[in-house]
Amino acid sequence: MSTTHFLSKSKILSGWQCHKKLWLEIHDPEQAEIDASKERIFEIGHQVGEIARRLFPDGLLIGHEKHLPQALAATEQRLAAPGPVTLFEPALRHAGVLIRADILIRDAENQIRLIEVKAATKVKPVNYIDCAVQAWVLAGLELHPARVDLAHVDNQFVYPGGGDYQGLIAFEDVTDKVAPMLEHVPAWLEEYRGMLDGEVPPIEIGPQCRNPYDCAFLNYCTPPQPDYPVRCLPGGKKAVWQLLEEGVEDIRDVPPPPSRDLPMVVPRRRADQEHPETRRQIDAGGAHPPPVLSTDHCASFCSWVMAA
Ligand code: SF4
Repeated sequence: MSTTHFLSKSKILSGWQCHKKLWLEIHDPEQAEIDASKERIFEIGHQVGEIARRLFPDGLLIGHEKHLPQALAATEQRLAAPGPVTLFEPALRHAGVLIRADILIRDAENQIRLIEVKAATKVKPVNYIDCAVQAWVLAGLELHPARVDLAHVDNQFVYPGGGDYQGLIAFEDVTDKVAPMLEHVPAWLEEYRGMLDGEVPPIEIGPQCRNPYDCAFLNYCTPPQPDYPVRCLPGGKKAVWQLLEEGVEDIRDVPPPPSRDLPMVVPRRRADQEHPETRRQIDAGGAHPPPVLSTDHCASFCSWVMAA
């Protein structure tokens, strides 16, 4: 029997992406690196959330972002009052799982509608997991959602100006996709809690580090790099991960085509014309210590190596 680690929805999504990510978030969070781009993404998400709320003018914001007990109490109080209600950021907890739903609506027929807002133009598989965890918590509190929506940015929207964002948000009914997932949530919780009771999982970096979200522990998990890391190759990361799985860490060790089935070709003519010294060094097996390749230079060269 595992310990009942309290888990938020975002922690469960971290575990779904990578067990080690969840383990580090719980046991060693100071290793995370939050860069400015992540904060910007967070800010955009906040702005889209606010625009979505404007579509429900009767909605009540629960608030108490940093005071969970108050947020839970305020949500409970609002839901205890009879009649229709729309809540923004209600806090709900069931079986040690905490959620802050974006929008929760109870209509005049007592039907519950859950809306998860995403600042993206497309729905991803992880978004269904996200909704499933929330719907599971609601069901556990006898608030079975009759409808679950993913609200996202409509890529056909044209901003007319003047602060008019009507039409920016598109709603996708995902009730049928989410419903079959609910029965799996207890097993996920058991799995993650059991994992959290143990040592850090021995997981190496791989495609999961950037999918579905960039992991804040990437630098922590990345082993020491060679002078010319294949990780700096631009373009399709699938090819890079394939190389790493084969044990190829350094660009100079990449086998030349056509011996491999990868989109790796070296446009020699262009390379020779534009960076002959770099090309010569790579062909010669590199120079030690590298006198020419700065990070930018390396990236520039790599943009030839990974040809479309
Ligand atoms: S960097 Fe990759 S391996 Fe490390 S915790 Fe994050 S997702 Fe897992």
